[in-house]
Amino acid sequence: MKSSRPHTDALGPRLPRVIITGFMGTGKTKTAQALAEILGLECIDSDRLIEQMEGMTVANIFARKGEPHFRRLEEEVCLKLAGRSGVVIATGGGTLVHRKNFDVLSAAGHLVLLEASADAVLKRVGGDGARPLLRGSEGSAPNRAALKERILSILEERRPAYHRISHRVDTSTISPDETAYRIAASMAIASKKVGTAARIEIGRGLVSALGRRLQEMHLDSSVFVLIPENLRERFLAQIAESLNSRSVAWQEVVIRDGDAGKNLDQAGEVLDRLASLGAARDSTIVVVGGGVAGDLGGFVASIYMRGVPLVHVPTTLLAQVDSSIGGKVGVNHPKAKNLIGSFHPPRLVLSDPCVLRTLPAAEISNGMAEVVKTAILGDADLFDFIEGRLTESHPDTLRDVEFLERCVLDSASVKSAITERDPFEKDERRVLNLGHTLGHALEAIGGYRGLTHGQAVSVGLVGAMRIAEARGLVKSTLVERTRNALANCGLPVDPPPFDDAAFLESLHLDKKKRSGRLHFVLPTGLGSVTVVNDVTEEEARTSLRGERS
Ligand code: NAD
Ligand code: ZN
Repeated sequence: MKSSRPHTDALGPRLPRVIITGFMGTGKTKTAQALAEILGLECIDSDRLIEQMEGMTVANIFARKGEPHFRRLEEEVCLKLAGRSGVVIATGGGTLVHRKNFDVLSAAGHLVLLEASADAVLKRVGGDGARPLLRGSEGSAPNRAALKERILSILEERRPAYHRISHRVDTSTISPDETAYRIAASMAIASKKVGTAARIEIGRGLVSALGRRLQEMHLDSSVFVLIPENLRERFLAQIAESLNSRSVAWQEVVIRDGDAGKNLDQAGEVLDRLASLGAARDSTIVVVGGGVAGDLGGFVASIYMRGVPLVHVPTTLLAQVDSSIGGKVGVNHPKAKNLIGSFHPPRLVLSDPCVLRTLPAAEISNGMAEVVKTAILGDADLFDFIEGRLTESHPDTLRDVEFLERCVLDSASVKSAITERDPFEKDERRVLNLGHTLGHALEAIGGYRGLTHGQAVSVGLVGAMRIAEARGLVKSTLVERTRNALANCGLPVDPPPFDDAAFLESLHLDKKKRSGRLHFVLPTGLGSVTVVNDVTEEEARTSLRGERS
């Protein structure tokens, strides 16, 4: 099966270049650093670059070599920086006042002007004797009143130049972090949309666009943010800023993370909390977190007042490529995982690959198992891309935001196309179980304490490939390619020692759950699969052992 390529409104494949400028004391450097962190880009400070070139501070360059020399260096640096992509650049306060620099940098990237009142500037830089432009004519530090005069007069001089920049943020009363969140939100760099039923957006900085999106979609009348306790510190400031800057009325509901807490008890607690906080039919539930939070919060959203609008802000790779898409929500029962649940498609999914930077490596690998699965069943190009990028000479690729962004975009677009054609898992959606029939059996015999889900799926994918190979559906080279790709994702490709009888029993339990035959999804090539129901016990067993049946 081949899915259609996603609709895109991106700036193109080129990595973004953002240039932060503005008067001294507006927070350029700190804002650029925070924005680079949010967007997964490199941060460069043009003044620091000049200082490195000259081996002395800007103040000393001014004092010893004069302003014209400094401005020449600045021009040189602007030309250099215009050739770099994937960066956030903080310029000096006067850099873009010079037309040449403005022309070079405005053609190269997105310009943002930071503004602040003279009083705010004075407060921030008043005591800083190192600012050459604020020094009196005789080089001494002027008093406060004179300083304010000086600030106002330089501001006035620069006003026409600054006003050539249309994207402006007033930082007088906000921190550099908040400024960065606002810039990220208003840019929503390279955000791409997939899906038609649910709106799924993928792009850097999208977490900061939450408030704006909720407003645009009229989901902002009363918002309840469900977030696991352990993720609050990482995400709440960014979420709060995004909602507050749009005056969205919101309240927080803290949940416990972990599959052990994905149960009816906690769902009941969250329902109680929503009721006591006054959640109503037109309230929106925004779930921030991985698949566990998404399943639990989504389930609560599906039953509270017979269903309220749901928005996912997935923060794990697995949640971005898999669990936030397709509308399945639910909780575990002591007797079985995900036994209780419903279908409640989210209205909006905001997948920001930058949030994955703090995700432990094992969780990235888990998510990659689903990405490779999705590539094999529906997107040969994605498989080629992963294979090409994950080589031994590039060991850091799994941490690369650009790599992850492409994986999320392509996987989400394949899964959403399939689930939209088969929303209630009647037919086609079964193909998403590729690697899972064997995987579930392996997970179960380890008592869910052995292989993780992603690891079990990885071994299961190799097994499904081998069954397909033995049946003449795929060539042996594809089995090898699959093993290599999964191993390069940090995943096991062979099962740990297991007992045949326990494995077969577990396989049949899975069959019973589905009340019927054991469906097996088998690859028929890269990007295509078939569903069969005549796989024998012997085929299943030998596929994992790597024996020929
Ligand atoms: P998870 O939600 O347990 O998250 C894994 C760990 O990562 C947790 O400790 C979490 O706190 C932490 N974390 C989350 N985001 C982080 C971040 N950005 N930085 C640092 N740490 C972060 O696990 P998961 O793999 O995301 O989801 C697994 C769950 O998803 C299972 O319960 C499974 O049943 C469910 N699932 C549902 C569907 C579906 O269609 N609904 C599909 C697949 C899986
Ligand atoms: Zn899975």
